Formats: sequence, C-alpha cells, structure tokens
Amino acid sequence: MKLAELFKQGRPVFSFEVFPPKRDKPIDTIYSTLEALKDLKPDFISVTYGASGSLADNSTCEIASAIKHKYGMESAAHLTCVNSTREEVKVVLERLKTAGVENILALRGDISPDVPPKDDFHHASELIEYIKSLGYDFGISGACYPEGHPNSESQIDDIVNLKKKVDAGAQHLVSQLFFDNSMFYDFLEKARIAGIEVPIEAGIMPVTNKKQIERMVSMCGASLPPKFAKTMSRYETRPDALKDAGIAYAAEQIVDLVSQGVDGIHLYTMNNPEVARRINDSVRSLF
Ligand code: FAD
Repeated sequence: MKLAELFKQGRPVFSFEVFPPKRDKPIDTIYSTLEALKDLKPDFISVTYGASGSLADNSTCEIASAIKHKYGMESAAHLTCVNSTREEVKVVLERLKTAGVENILALRGDISPDVPPKDDFHHASELIEYIKSLGYDFGISGACYPEGHPNSESQIDDIVNLKKKVDAGAQHLVSQLFFDNSMFYDFLEKARIAGIEVPIEAGIMPVTNKKQIERMVSMCGASLPPKFAKTMSRYETRPDALKDAGIAYAAEQIVDLVSQGVDGIHLYTMNNPEVARRINDSVRSLF
C-alpha cells in the first residue's frame, strides 16, 4: 500500500523509524527489534539509508522488504541521492522494486565536508523527478523541517523549496524531530498557506540519554525549550530518571499534537523497542 493511502482512514497515522545495524553487527540484530515492534502494530515502518550511497550496502532494501513480507507491516525505504550518480540510484530503485518495496522516502542526504558530492542530484526534488521520469510506481515521501533546514537562508525559503518537492511528486512529508510543538504548528500553518496540502507527519524522538541530546542538537539544530532543557539537565546523572523523563516528554508532545489534529506521528525508535512500547502504551488509544 502507498503511504498516502494510510492518511485516508480518518485517524492519525502512527509510524516508526529504524536504522540498519552498524557494519560490524550482523543484519539479524534488527530482526528481534522488528519482532518486538510488530506487536505495537504501527501503520508503517521506515528504514534509513546510509549517507554514503554505497551500492555495496543493500541493508535498507533487505530490511524494508522483510518488514513488508516477513512481518506483514507496510514499509518505506529511505533513499539519499547527493553522493550517487543517476545510474547508481537506478540500481537501488530496481532492487527495491524487485524486493517488493512500495514506498520511498526520497532525500538529498547530508553533504559531508570530507566527501565532495557527485553532480547528478542537488536536491531531493530532483531525485523525485528522476524516479517519476523512469516510470516507477513507488509511493514517494519527503522530509520537512519545522525549524527550517540548516542550509536554508530562512524558514520561508525552505518552505518555498518544500513546495517544489511536493510539486515534483512527494505525496507525504515526515518532519525532522523537534521538542517544541509550537514550532511545528507555526511551520504547519505556513506550509498550508504556501499550498502544501499533502499529509505531514510530526517526527518525535524520545530522548533517553544525554549523549543523544547533544548529538541531536549538533546534527539537526533542534531548539530545546526551557522546560525540556531543565528536565534533561536535572536528571542527566541519573540514567533511569532521564529515560523516564524523556519518554514522558515525548508522550506529552504526542498527546498535544494528536489533540490538535496532526496527520500523523513518526516515532524515531532508535531501534529501541522497549522505549517504543512505553510510548505506545501511553498514547495508543488516541489513534
Ligand atoms: P532537500 O529537500 O534537497 O533540501 C536541502 C536544502 O536544499 C534545504 O535547504 C532546501 O530548502 C534546499 N532545496 C530543496 N529543494 C530545492 C530546490 N529545488 N532549489 C533550491 N533549493 C532547494 N539522511 C540520510 O543520510 N539517511 C536517511 O535515511 C535520512 N533520513 C531522514 C529522514 C527524515 C524524516 C529527515 C527529516 C531527514 C533524514 N535524513 C537522512 C537527513 C537528510 O538527508 C538531511 O537533512 C539533508 O541535509 C537534507 O535532505 P532533504 O531531502 O530534506 O533535502
């Protein structure tokens, strides 16, 4: 099923994100995670893609196919383009089609200062145009940034570019994580005014350890509201308390978002089924 169809059910969508195990770990370690996530009955699970775009790594495709065919859930494979040629992307698209994966989250990928990007793709919208030009019948999603993408001059510029991505064929958007719901509501209002009408899922990450917060802030620049920062600094030396507080904070964000009529919640599970289960248990009846 194409993901866009899930939003026609008259209730918010609840989806998860997982990542392939690191190269030094066998791919099978993800399967116990998926087994546990399956019990939570998400609407779909998306699988991230390595930023390098290396064809040697087929794990995203394998996992997205297993989610659909072995575990019976809908899946989406992330696909980045900035470090790939058109031919390389075509190889991945062919693999996904052969593996029966129906949905792609089309991304530019981060530009690393150490790896000069290849010149075939500059933006996710070009990847979407390319997929369409080859005649593939994938459901296509894209990413969006409630606080603006770090490469953008302004949030308005970023929303203008987001509209190009939707016009190119993105049928659904998943947001970058955020900790301040008011930022998401502000973004949503501007996106709708700009004529972006596709479903927009809110990306929620339960923060369960201090390292994770530092990493998230440095990578995506998400701002930390005083209430969140205070809670995290109060419990930073007590891992169990920090975890409880992080889960409670994420659950509270979800309750507010769902009450305000959000199209869906995309939970960044960090491959941690216990945290996903605890969040699920506290919000499931809202969906
Ligand atoms: P784009 O949509 O291309 O936007 C990037 C910048 O270019 C923005 O500033 C935008 O305003 C501008 N822009 C966009 N289109 C145009 C245009 N047509 N003309 C001019 N300017 C334009 N990274 C991974 O490596 N693997 C993953 O699996 C992965 N999954 C992600 C999932 C989600 C939900 C999110 C939010 C991010 C994910 N990322 C992933 C990170 C992502 O690759 C980076 O944020 C990357 O820097 C931007 O990707 P994008 O697809 O949003 O880029």
